[in-house]
Amino acid sequence: MSLAAGQTAQGTPCFTIGTADGGKWTCSGLIIATGGLSYPTTGSTGDGYRWAEETGHRLVPSFPALTALVPRGYKDPEQLISSAKCHIARETPRTAFGDKLCGLQLKNVGVQLLVEGVEAENEFGDLDFTDGGIEGPVGFQLSRKAVKSLVNGSRVALVLDLKPGVGLTELTERVKALWSEIDKDPRSRRLREKERCRILLGKLMPWDLIPAFSAAHPEIITLERRSRTDTKVWVNLVSIAKALKAWRFDIDGYVGYERAVITAGGVSTDDVVAKTMESRLVPGLYFCGEVLDIDADTGGYNLQAAFSTGALAGRSAAMKILGK
Ligand SMILES: Cc1cc2nc3c(=O)[nH]c(=O)nc-3n(C[C@H](O)[C@H](O)[C@H](O)COP(=O)(O)OP(=O)(O)OC[C@H]3O[C@@H](n4cnc5c(N)ncnc54)[C@H](O)[C@@H]3O)c2cc1C
Repeated sequence: MSLAAGQTAQGTPCFTIGTADGGKWTCSGLIIATGGLSYPTTGSTGDGYRWAEETGHRLVPSFPALTALVPRGYKDPEQLISSAKCHIARETPRTAFGDKLCGLQLKNVGVQLLVEGVEAENEFGDLDFTDGGIEGPVGFQLSRKAVKSLVNGSRVALVLDLKPGVGLTELTERVKALWSEIDKDPRSRRLREKERCRILLGKLMPWDLIPAFSAAHPEIITLERRSRTDTKVWVNLVSIAKALKAWRFDIDGYVGYERAVITAGGVSTDDVVAKTMESRLVPGLYFCGEVLDIDADTGGYNLQAAFSTGALAGRSAAMKILGK
């Protein structure tokens, strides 16, 4: 598709649109509502950006937002599928560690976003591990800042707090009390320390999470080799409490536009009149929705922005054409 912007002899705007099937259309008012770059399978391939640029508008660099963040060790680095810096395609195969986490949904967790080791954002809510990486409401919420930081070359990490309702001291006491209960329980008398540890973890987190938690925190168990045949296993209760409060995931990359819910960046809002959505540079040309440099958190705000700017652009264009 092509777009040419001009004027009639009388000075009214005139746009000519050429379609892929060879059709040609002219109009005196035009609204660009082509969306962003996310989910290209829906037809959003970024044409609107090209037309905006060709007609002199500034573009704020775009990046995928509300997308999965990929923790280190989640995807197989040997089989990495990527097309840009820090982009890790969803279909990149997972590692054994990724397989342990994929499909788990965590409720009511705290998550801290660290950029260069400094807290950039802190959220509370639900988090999902998917085939892409870390998603869910909280993952999405943090992804905008995380992706922008990764693209800018910063180190990014998420710190998961599985017990946000209690402080470390209280939690440590609780872990010790649970351990003592297990110790006193006659059913655990014949169990080995590692099995007892698993029972303890089962009282502190969803059962399915234990393999990944244990793999990520080898420090929760110490092996003391006493002789060639005798190894004593120590369960480190304080380490368990610390790991529950701060499970760190260094973030290697993000899933790109192929599955990002929204595109951040786009046509600069400085080049658009907020009251009408009309371009400040090309009279008769309007922009609305995701093609603009507007993006928001999850919760329907992006759809609302598209509906509101779309209605405003439509009304403004009609009024102008009707001379009202
Ligand atoms: C899977 C998914 C889930 C989402 N969930 C939410 C949510 O829960 N809440 C929320 O607020 N937002 C959500 N969003 C974001 C929201 O859908 C978008 O922000 C919103 O739809 C943007 O509207 P738009 O009209 O600007 O663009 P779009 O809805 O992308 O529409 C653009 C249209 O233009 C067409 N187009 C593009 N280029 C051309 C061309 N050259 N020729 C012809 N046609 C073209 C496209 O095919 C498309 O139909 C979600 C997005 C996705 C992908």
